[in-house]
Amino acid sequence: MGSRRLPLVAATANPNKLAEIEAILGDAVELLPRPDHVPDVVEDAPDLLGNARLKAQAIMAATGHAALADDTGLEVDRLDGAPGVHSARYAGPQADASANVAKLLGALADVAQPERTARFRTVALVAWPDGTETYAEGVVEGHIIAAPEGTGGFGYDPVFVPVDGGGATFAAMSDADKNAISHRGRAFRNLLGLLGPRLG
Ligand code: IMP
Repeated sequence: MGSRRLPLVAATANPNKLAEIEAILGDAVELLPRPDHVPDVVEDAPDLLGNARLKAQAIMAATGHAALADDTGLEVDRLDGAPGVHSARYAGPQADASANVAKLLGALADVAQPERTARFRTVALVAWPDGTETYAEGVVEGHIIAAPEGTGGFGYDPVFVPVDGGGATFAAMSDADKNAISHRGRAFRNLLGLLGPRLG
């Protein structure tokens, strides 16, 4: 009885995301690096599923192998779900995480704590060479605090406190604790459930 790991080419080259995805998927999947020669994908779909599909299909088309992509958005209730699908470029096309966080905290400056509810949502998607796809979603509810806390994680982690996280931001948790309850952890574990028959 051999167990073969399912090879999937990663559509992301973001080291933070890759580390999380590898830790979540464990031994079930052999994650292959994104080829350098594939140009960046323009993420102009109207929703997370569309952007995950664009990224996975581009890598699958370039390599001929099954490709794995994810797309994440932070949905803030008082901002009518913004930044949502625009989370990466909330503060402008070249914005970095600190600029995005600063813009978010500014937008919520006059909003008191009970109203600062938000959620991270991730769609994880595999594009198969036969043109089919498999995808799953993961969500974590929480709220946005007034000032960054913690030095771990990335993106909006320093200002997001998940429910069931003991009051800490994602940036103040260990990687394992974040993965256990995060949007990405849930999306990829749900995806693994759907991949069951293809896993060794
Ligand atoms: P994308 O999925 O790489 O397009 O991410 C969209 C935006 O959400 C980027 O600004 C990321 O930094 C941010 N983001 C994605 N995943 C996380 C996370 O797990 N924690 C905090 N921010 C994240």
